Amino acid sequence: DSHWSQFPMAPPDPIIGLTEAYLKDDFPDKVNVGVGAYRCDQGMPFVLPVVREAENELVAEELDHEYSGIAGCPNFVDVALKFAYGDDCVPLKENRVAGVQTLSGTGGLRVFGEVLHQFGHKHIYVPNPTWGNHIPIFTNAGLEVRKYRYYDNATSNLDFNGLLDDLQAIPEGSCVLLHACAHNPTGMDPTMEQWKQISNVAKERNLLPFFDCAYQGFASGDARKDAAALRMFVEDGHNIALVQSFSKNFGLYGQRVGALSVVADTPDEAKRVLSQLKVHIRPSYSNPPRHGARIVSKILSSEKKTDEFVEQCMGMAKRIDSMRIKLRNTLEELGSSRSWEHVTKQIGMFAYSGMSKDEVVALREKHHIYCTLDGRISMAGVTSKNVEYIAKAIHDVTE
Ligand code: PLP
Repeated sequence: DSHWSQFPMAPPDPIIGLTEAYLKDDFPDKVNVGVGAYRCDQGMPFVLPVVREAENELVAEELDHEYSGIAGCPNFVDVALKFAYGDDCVPLKENRVAGVQTLSGTGGLRVFGEVLHQFGHKHIYVPNPTWGNHIPIFTNAGLEVRKYRYYDNATSNLDFNGLLDDLQAIPEGSCVLLHACAHNPTGMDPTMEQWKQISNVAKERNLLPFFDCAYQGFASGDARKDAAALRMFVEDGHNIALVQSFSKNFGLYGQRVGALSVVADTPDEAKRVLSQLKVHIRPSYSNPPRHGARIVSKILSSEKKTDEFVEQCMGMAKRIDSMRIKLRNTLEELGSSRSWEHVTKQIGMFAYSGMSKDEVVALREKHHIYCTLDGRISMAGVTSKNVEYIAKAIHDVTE
């Protein structure tokens, strides 16, 4: 017998598996709106011009390829944290934020999940619904994943009362995962007043707010504004943890650029936290890759390049918005019996369409359109060329 004869076939990944199925499909008008990866209006992957520019400069610098430290590139961590927390952030100025470079958002979530588990956390609370990968990431880190109410399917709206009630009822000191902006998959964020109420409940219950910031720039279109919620929590005195991904906003998906940071009470506490993060990273992947971090570092270290980045990121967000309008209008013109108002109310990369599992399967089998079973459509994959095809197909399966 082979060593592997007892290995059963694992199911395909719910998101990446879609791309695999899409690639095998030979229908000419097939559409991949599964994975959240931005496409230009010609349906092609998009490299931000400012990223190209930074890359060209890096090539000219003829840098070496030595290891970075366990915590990654210090300059990258520095500018990444300022990008999220803001230049005026008091804990940053007081040197009491521990930060490391991570293998993008996923890697940061995993490292912090492990550290939480090691320091006595048994559970983590995530919104229902949430990004599908959150659940196995934290489960594999040793935590039991529990859900708090977030979205009301019946009204296609935030279930804010349910959210507050649930946060009030969870054990004191629990870690609560919050999407910093552009909630995936629902596209619905709390208002700033609602964030304030969440912050107050977190204070009363001594909760640990853990922000996952994967779409800074895709919510309002202005990357600087999209960090408003987490900045308010820091101002309110929460010792937050934060994971940042540079996959979507900088279009650096495969470069795996991210950061994990933890706000502490004192510089000494921050140093001790940092030491623990490093203890987890070293036997896991030892140290992070350099190239993508150098790109982000170069951009965010320059005011001019940062402005260019903000504008180019805004361009992506605007193209998505125009596709939301076109998709909704076309469905309405086709005489749909359903309301599609939520498609334009939602923000970020996704439309949480409200389609049932059966409808999603029909969309795939009949029309070769690939989206996740929860009915989430990546608007980043919708273009002028395929939007009508998508609308007609959705109409056909939902009429
Ligand atoms: N968090 C959320 C909410 C996401 O949607 C994603 C990507 O889809 C990630 C984290 C992590 O992405 P990455 O590991 O590419 O940074």
